[in-house]
Parts: sequence; C-alpha cells; structure tokens
Amino acid sequence: MKVVTTATELAAEWEAGRRAGAVIGYVPTMGALHEGHLSLVDLARAECDLVVCSIFVNPLQFGPDEDFESYPRPVERDLELLRARDTDLAFLPDWREIFPGGERVLDDFGTHVSVPRLSHQLCGRSREGHFDGMVTESLLFLNLVRPDRTYWGEKDFQQLRIIETLVRDMRLPVTVVRGATKREPDGLAMSSRNKNLSPGARALGPRLRERLKSMREAALSGEALPEVLAAGRDGLTSLGFEVEYLVACEEEALTEVRTLDGPVPVRLFAAARLGGVRLLDNIPLTEGNHG
Ligand code: AMP
Repeated sequence: MKVVTTATELAAEWEAGRRAGAVIGYVPTMGALHEGHLSLVDLARAECDLVVCSIFVNPLQFGPDEDFESYPRPVERDLELLRARDTDLAFLPDWREIFPGGERVLDDFGTHVSVPRLSHQLCGRSREGHFDGMVTESLLFLNLVRPDRTYWGEKDFQQLRIIETLVRDMRLPVTVVRGATKREPDGLAMSSRNKNLSPGARALGPRLRERLKSMREAALSGEALPEVLAAGRDGLTSLGFEVEYLVACEEEALTEVRTLDGPVPVRLFAAARLGGVRLLDNIPLTEGNHG
C-alpha cells in the first residue's frame, strides 16, 4: 500500500492507474477505522482494480461545540488495517493541503456546496452547517481522487442520499455504491464514537436497534405510524436515551411521512444520546428488507 499526503502525489498515482486501465474505487473516511469502514474497502476491492481510501477529519463539518479536536486519530493503526484489507493507496492529506487558505478555514475557504433539500431535516436540525461542510469537502475530494466508483455507508443514510443527489445533479462521472450498515454482534451500529460510551451506555446501546426493529414489526402489522413513533420514543426515553429524533421518512426525499400507504420506500431514522454520545441508526420500513 502506498501512502500519499499531497494532491500532486495522488494525481501521479491516478495517472499511472489510468494508463494501466484500472477501475478506481474510493472510500472516503475520517479514520478511526472499524469494520464498517473496512466493509466498504472490501466492496471496493471486489469491484475495482485500484482501491483508494482517504483519511481526513474535515473541519468544515464540525460545529464550534463539536468534537473536532478530540476526534480520534489512530493513524498507524488505521494504516495497518487498510494494509490488511489490501488497499492500494491511502490518501492522508494535512488540512493545509486541502484548505491552503490557512487557519481560519471556514472564513478563508470561499466556495461552499449545498444540497439544501436534504440537508435541513434529521441530523441537519441539530448540526447546522454540518452537511454543507461534508458535501463541500466530499466534492473537493472526489475531484482530487477522480474515482470511477465511490463507496458510502447506509449507517449515515442522510449523508449517502446527499452524496447521491450531488452526483446526480452535477453529473459527476462517478458511481455511488451503497454499503450495508455493519453492526457489533449485539446489533449496535459500528461507529468511531462508540468507544466514548461508558460501559453502562455501551450495554444499553443495542436497545436502539432492538426498538427500531420492534417498531417496524408494529408498523408492518398495521399499527398507526404516529402511535408507533410515540411509543418508540417513550420506550427509548425510559431506558435512558435522550432522543433527538425518531421519525419515518421517504428514503428518496427524506420527507417525513405519517402512513405507509404511499408508493415509495420509507425508512425509520433515529438519533439518540447515551451519556452524551450521539448514536445514529436507521432501518427500512419495507417488508423483506432487513437493513
Ligand atoms: P466516517 O469515517 O464516520 O466519516 O465514515 C466513513 C464512511 O464509512 C461513511 O460512508 C460512513 O457511512 C461509513 N460507515 C461508518 N460506519 C459504518 C457502519 N457501521 N457500517 C457501514 N458503513 C459505515
């Protein structure tokens, strides 16, 4: 595996790959890698000749009170994990390489990209500017890496839909591939932030997924969605979760729905905190698909 830190080195690798006729696959990450990320690398490995993974903790997508400084950065361990999954190229730019404007990144980086229709609901409500920061940086990285295929996890379903919309609307010459959510054996969705859970919170974490599954059963057996959602919220709250949102939305447009009668697929989306750690999960409300 080659490790590169500059756009110039990356471009040279791209040229060499293209000359050899390689299909280029790209997995963007913020590092602190786990099996969720690595499952995307495996998908890319199975479908592409040259597998590129970036590790970049993107300052644009963190709010002023969020954990940008303390976000875990176990670089050597991450590189070992990528090597073990047969990654060809790791791109680890310093943020100054990406934002040459300097310290005041948000002020100095003049161009912002936005997918507003999908960015203000769900996580966008509490994390103002988060998705604009994410999509701005993602477009920049897609332009630097220039992959044929790019791999994104369904765990962050809203993010995935925003990227799919960016690619479709801007006709970016790349295929977005979805990866299923990877879970711990007890069902907790893997996340780089899970290690911040206290032992008690870690033990409770899987109850979020369990609750989503029982809500799906109730909804599919004909219980009215508003009641299912209210009971789900109460159940989680009484377990000790601070529920930020628990809603059913159309998968495509991410607009909230109150019934399952419509013609489009619907998904349940949840964000809830346990001891200050924010957990995200989602589950399709479509029979036969067990997300
Ligand atoms: P992050 O490093 O958190 O920005 O995530 C990088 C990529 O990994 C994104 O496409 C995420 O959706 C994906 N990802 C994170 N956690 C999981 C998971 N548990 N299962 C599948 N993909 C994941």
